[in-house]
Amino acid sequence: MKENDKKPIIQSSGYNGKEPTRVCPKCGMEKPLSDFGFRNMGLKQNNQVRNQSWCKDCR
Ligand SMILES: [Zn+2]
Repeated sequence: MKENDKKPIIQSSGYNGKEPTRVCPKCGMEKPLSDFGFRNMGLKQNNQVRNQSWCKDCR
């Protein structure tokens, strides 16, 4: 098994000096990935872990 099989897929567009950031498509704010959280895609998607598309405030 390859070591990076369980590596989260991070969809980020920027960096704020401390952590990657991305723009929330709902509110349009650029926020650190820690404001988005992660979700497990389940068996249908090979159990891939992705970051949420909307920030915590929007959800
Ligand atoms: Zn948002």
